[in-house]
Amino acid sequence: MEEKLLEFKEYLKRIEYMNSTTSVLYWDMRVGIPNKAILYRGEVLGYLSGETYKLQTSDTMKGFIEYFSSIKNLDKVTESMVKNAKKDYDQTKKIPEKRYVEYTVLVSRAEAAWEEAKSKSDFNIFKPFLKQVVDFNKEFIDYWGYTDNKYDTLLDIYEPGITVAKLDKVFGGLRDAIVELLGKIQKSEVKPDSSIFTTGFSKEKQEAFGLFVLNKMEYDFQAGRLDESVHPFTIEFCNTDVRITTHYHENDLKSALFGSIHEGGHAIYEQDIPDSLQGTMLGHGVSMGIHESQSRFYENILGRSKSFWEYFYPEFKKTFPEFKDISLDDFYIAMNEVLPSLIRIEADELTYSLHIIIRYEIEKELINGEIEVDDLPKVWNAKYKEYLGVEPKDDGEGVLQDMHWSGGSFGYFPSYALGNLYGAQFLGKILKDIPDFYKEIESGNLSSIHAWLKENIHKHGAVYTPSELIKMVTGEELNEKYFIEYLNKKYSDIYKF
Ligand code: ZN
Repeated sequence: MEEKLLEFKEYLKRIEYMNSTTSVLYWDMRVGIPNKAILYRGEVLGYLSGETYKLQTSDTMKGFIEYFSSIKNLDKVTESMVKNAKKDYDQTKKIPEKRYVEYTVLVSRAEAAWEEAKSKSDFNIFKPFLKQVVDFNKEFIDYWGYTDNKYDTLLDIYEPGITVAKLDKVFGGLRDAIVELLGKIQKSEVKPDSSIFTTGFSKEKQEAFGLFVLNKMEYDFQAGRLDESVHPFTIEFCNTDVRITTHYHENDLKSALFGSIHEGGHAIYEQDIPDSLQGTMLGHGVSMGIHESQSRFYENILGRSKSFWEYFYPEFKKTFPEFKDISLDDFYIAMNEVLPSLIRIEADELTYSLHIIIRYEIEKELINGEIEVDDLPKVWNAKYKEYLGVEPKDDGEGVLQDMHWSGGSFGYFPSYALGNLYGAQFLGKILKDIPDFYKEIESGNLSSIHAWLKENIHKHGAVYTPSELIKMVTGEELNEKYFIEYLNKKYSDIYKF
């Protein structure tokens, strides 16, 4: 069996090499590809996806899965490895190879069409591509099947075990709590002034301060790099090459800063995954929800806390002397201003989850055929008016703002709000394990929190399912109450109610 296991790992490595190669091409496409090269790049990606498909669905793969599935008492890592390989095999095998390749080519072109549509604020440029992407996803659900709700099948890709039934309940509770808090905030006498962040700051200074923070967070620049792209992202080729990007806006100092901290949180997770899991298909974050819990932990729970700025604010003022007369209190309150707005990635920590709940509801209806692609701008605008009281003036700041749908990532959005929920639940446990948590942050020591995250979450890669992990770490299932309590405490302090 030992020998067979080595052979299996060698085989899985070949798939991971293909995935790494494809990821490098995607990274290059988002960071610096010339416009005219997009069609050709789509063909290359299509070809590579066909080769990966062959490896994933071969008789050799089938043989390995059958052999190991028949063995009892496998160790946890091998058991998860086999389970993941089987899931991949079953799902991929059900899609005809031709359709699989066609889809890969389509999404790379759809991404380019989305970028053009977004820059021109014209949904019609993107619409024909989006229709095809949606149809493909519906076709995949037909191949894969579903039990209760078609959308469950897509949710499971990003967050194994999560269903519409669970999300309706958890998001319902979250939505009511946010709406209630928002009402209290809007009645408050406290009126933060965040205009100080919009007075013009050079890219060079923003980059310098971002690098300072990333280094303190212990993002390893020997195993990564920071570049610029339209839409910030993290991509990993292996644990020694995990890259992040950000986007600098001269008139919005918060955007690149919190964007870099966020992506840094994702990247640290990947960099921490041990060598022993590399090449086993388990050497990456377990799910997008757990991933978001890490990025949002750094961005919000740490990055938007007063303790964090107790340490970083003096350094920040050296880089940006415009802030020299602004007290830490005013700075902290301004940074946490709650203001219902149109753009998800620039939303405050409170209303952010409402942006996600809107997308969740739209995707659920779209995939179940209750609305069509043609209806999207109208439905989008109506929901923004209903939940946030704001209305986009064009599709660029409305339905076209996110790239996810161009890549066919339906089912991905809920991960962001799940990340908020998991993150606050982890915080509850951290405060028990590290009673001096906030004091350590005030002194600029982010090492013990990093060590805790590494020991409890990062080092496991994808060995445990998200629900196993959250239970193992916190002793209970996903529970929205921690995040709601966290929000209540934070905003009642700031807005004095
Ligand atoms: Zn993220």
